[in-house]
Amino acid sequence: MVGYKKPCRHCGELVENDANTCPWCGKPSPTDSLRCPKCRSPIQTGQRACAHCGLELKMDCPRCGKATFLGDFCESCGARLMAKCPKCGAEQVPLGERCASCDKKIKGGWKI
Ligand SMILES: [Zn+2]
Ligand SMILES: [Zn+2]
Ligand SMILES: [Zn+2]
Ligand SMILES: [Zn+2]
Repeated sequence: MVGYKKPCRHCGELVENDANTCPWCGKPSPTDSLRCPKCRSPIQTGQRACAHCGLELKMDCPRCGKATFLGDFCESCGARLMAKCPKCGAEQVPLGERCASCDKKIKGGWKI
């Protein structure tokens, strides 16, 4: 679809629908909608909890320690809220005490 543009979900500038990176703010997947990390239902910035599974859409950023909406990036320090499991390498939201993929216990919490 040539010429079909959507607003970037990070900065709001119009970008190609299939762009992998926003040319304006440089953040990834500018036109994907946010999804609940647990059930993958669409969620929106500002929601307090997932309407589908009830997961609380708030977390303490592992980098700066401030509470942030559970989106892709910390609202305070801009860190990407994704961590890699040290055992299997699966990327995931740094929530809970275990890897969602291989069930390894993450000692001392996730680092991002
Ligand atoms: Zn952008
Ligand atoms: Zn959910
Ligand atoms: Zn932060
Ligand atoms: Zn793992």
